Amino acid sequence: MQTRLTEMLGIQHPIIQGGMQWVGLAELASAVSNAGGLGIITGLTQPTPEDLFKEIARCREMTDKPFGVNLTILPTIKPVPYEEYALAIIDSGIKIVETAGRNPEPFLPGFKAAGITVIHKCTSIRHSLKAEKIGCDMVSVDGFECAGHPGEDDVTNLILLPLAAKRLKIPFIASGGLGDGRGLAAALAMGAEGINMGTRFMVTKEAPIHAKVKQAMVDASELDTSLIYRSLSNTARVFKNSVAQKVVEIESKPGATKFEDIQSLVAGVKGRELFDGGDLDNGIWSAGMIVGLIDDIPSCEELVHRIVADAEQIIGERLRQILPV
Ligand code: NAD
Repeated sequence: MQTRLTEMLGIQHPIIQGGMQWVGLAELASAVSNAGGLGIITGLTQPTPEDLFKEIARCREMTDKPFGVNLTILPTIKPVPYEEYALAIIDSGIKIVETAGRNPEPFLPGFKAAGITVIHKCTSIRHSLKAEKIGCDMVSVDGFECAGHPGEDDVTNLILLPLAAKRLKIPFIASGGLGDGRGLAAALAMGAEGINMGTRFMVTKEAPIHAKVKQAMVDASELDTSLIYRSLSNTARVFKNSVAQKVVEIESKPGATKFEDIQSLVAGVKGRELFDGGDLDNGIWSAGMIVGLIDDIPSCEELVHRIVADAEQIIGERLRQILPV
C-alpha cells in the first residue's frame, strides 16, 4: 500500500503506533518500525529530557528504520519543561514528531527549522484546520472511540474523517477505534492516508506492560471503557476497572469536582505501577473502545502484516466485487 503517509515518512505500511504514556518505550517503537510501520517513543514517559535523548539513542540501536517521538501538552500533576523536551528531540536528530493536546504552535519554529515532520493529534475539525493553518504537516484525527483524551465534543470517526477529507488540504490519518484490516480499509475509504493505533499495540508481545493487563484487554468487550475527568473538561477514556468506576462516582456527586478529590486515584505513577506489577486495580490506564475487537496477543510484525493483508483483501476482492464488471 502506498499513500501520502508512507511516502512522507518513508515507511512501508500506513500504520503508526501513537504515543502512549509508560508504553511508548524503545522496545515497542522499534518493533513497530521493524514491522514496517512507524513506532513512536512517548516523550514524557522519560523522567527528564536527557533520559529522552538516551531512549532515542537506545531505539536507534534496535532499528535502522524511521521512528518518531510524541510530545503531549495537557494538564499534569508536576510541571513539565516542554521546551527542554522539544530541544532534546531536535538535538537527537529525530525527524518525525507527534504532538497532542494543546496547540503546538510554540514548538513549530524549532521543529520546522530542524526539518521535522509534525503530525498533530486533533479531536475536532476546528482544531485540525487550526493545525493546518499554523503549519503542521499532517493531522491525526482522533475520534471519540479513542483511548486517552477524546476532547469534549464526542464526535466519532464516521463523521470526523469524511469532514477532514472535505475540509483539509494537508494529509490526515485516522486515530481511535482502529485495530484491524476492516478499520484500515474503512479509514482509507473515508479519505485518511493511514491509521494510528495505540490500544491495539498495547496488546502485542513487545508492549512493555504486564501480561495481566494485556489479558484484561483481550477479555474486555467494547463496553469496558469509562470516561473520566468529564467534570474537569479534560475527558479521558480509560479501562473500566474499580478505580475508574470510583472516579466516575466521585465526579457524579453534586457540586463541582476538584482535581485534588481524585488525584491520588489517577496519578500517572499508579498507572505505571499497574503496568509493571499487573495489579489491575492499582490505578487507571488509557484504553479505547477497540478493546472489544482485540482477542489475541500477536507480535507487532504479525499484527501489522495481518492488518495490511486483511485490508488488501477487502479492497482488492470484496469491494471490487461490489462493482459490476
Ligand atoms: P499525571 O500523573 O501528571 O496526571 C494524571 C492524569 O491526570 C493525566 O491524564 C492528566 O491529564 C490529568 N491531570 C493532571 N492534572 C490535572 C488537572 N489539574 N486537571 C485535570 N486533569 C489533570 O500524568 P501522566 O499519567 O504522568 O501523563 C503525562 C501526560 O501524558 C499527561 O499530559 C497526560 O494527560 C498524557 N497522557 C496522554 C494520553 C493520551 O491519550 N494521549 C494517555 C496518557 C497520558
